[in-house]
Amino acid sequence: MSATSSAPSLTNSIFDPILAQKQPLATKFLTSAILKRRLAHAYLFSGRSPAANLELTVQLAAYLNCTERQPISLDQEELVEGQLSCALRHGGKELASVLPLFCQNCRWILTDTHPQALIKLDSEGSKSGKIAVEKTRLLTDELGKESQFIRVIYVPDAHQEVLHRPAANAILKTIEDPRSAVVFMLFAVRAEEVLPTIVSRCQVIPTRSENADTVAFSLTAPSSSPNLSAKPSAKKWQRGMESQDDQENIIAIKSIASKLADLHKRQAAVTFLEITKELQTLGANDAPYEWMLDALIEEETGRLSFRAISNFKVSKYLEKLIKLEEETKLQIEHYVSPKAAIESFCLSWYQLKNEFGYW
Ligand SMILES: [Zn+2]
Repeated sequence: MSATSSAPSLTNSIFDPILAQKQPLATKFLTSAILKRRLAHAYLFSGRSPAANLELTVQLAAYLNCTERQPISLDQEELVEGQLSCALRHGGKELASVLPLFCQNCRWILTDTHPQALIKLDSEGSKSGKIAVEKTRLLTDELGKESQFIRVIYVPDAHQEVLHRPAANAILKTIEDPRSAVVFMLFAVRAEEVLPTIVSRCQVIPTRSENADTVAFSLTAPSSSPNLSAKPSAKKWQRGMESQDDQENIIAIKSIASKLADLHKRQAAVTFLEITKELQTLGANDAPYEWMLDALIEEETGRLSFRAISNFKVSKYLEKLIKLEEETKLQIEHYVSPKAAIESFCLSWYQLKNEFGYW
C-alpha cells in the first residue's frame, strides 16, 4: 500500500484536500461521523474508485491511531490543524522526507507496515479468487482480542464472489458487534453485488467513479487552469472561475442550488421545469454542462451528507443521483444533444426526489 501526502489542510476534513475534492461525499460522511462521535463499525462504499478507496482507508486509519493529534471536544464543529493526523499536518512534501516527523503509528500505517491498525482482507494467495474462510476465521479471532489500536479492516473487493457466503458468515458477528474498536471499510462497484447479510450491517456510502472525475477535471475550468492547492477552502466547482461570465454562472448555479434546497413536493414539477430552462440557457451562453452538473451535485451532496450518515434512504438517493450525473456526462460526451441530456437529467432528478422524499 502506498499513500501520497499533499498540502496542509485547514479544510474541515480529516482527509487531505485532494482526496476531499475527489470524494466529497465519502470524506464528508466520515469526518461528520467522527465530529459527532458516531463512527459506525462498518462502511460499504459503492463505486469505481480503487485509488481513492485505499487513500480513504489509510488516512482514516492514520487519523484514528495518530498519537500526536489533539482530541476533539464534543460540541466542536470545525477541526483545527493540531487535530489532524501527522500525515496531514506535515503534508505537501515528499513522503520520505516528512516520514521521520510522524508518530510511529502514522509512519507504520502510511508505509503499510503496521502490525495491527490496518489489516487487509482480500483473496491474495487463494487460487479461487475468493477470500479464504480460514483467513477470515483468523481475523475474527484476532479481532476478539483486546488491542491498544483502533483496527481498520480494508476489504478492497466485497463482491459476493470474493467475500462469499462461508467467509462472510465467519465474520458477520464481528461486523455487527465487534468486541474491540474496529472499523470495517468494504468496497464494491455496486452495493447489490454484495451479500445482503453484509450490506444490512453496513452504512452504504456512494463514491464518485474515478473516470467521471477525470472527465470533470478536464472540463472544469473554462478560463485559466485552476491551481488546486492554492485555495483549499473554495469549492471545486468554483475554482478557476474568474471572468465576469464565470462569476455570473456561479451566481446562477447558486440560485438553482438554493431552489433545490427549498423544494417542496407540491411545486416540485414546476421548479424542475424552470431549472431545466435555466440550465439550458446557461449552456447556450457557453457555461460548460459538465461544470454545471458537478456544481449542482456537489451542492446537493454537501447539503445532505450529514443526514445520509444516519439515513439509508438519503444515502441511496445520493448514490442514484451521482450515477445519474455520470450517465448524463457520458451522453453529452457521446454527442447526445446537451439540451436533451439536461432535460432528461432534470426529469430523472425530479423522479428521484419523488421516489425518495423531500429533505
Ligand atoms: Zn500520527
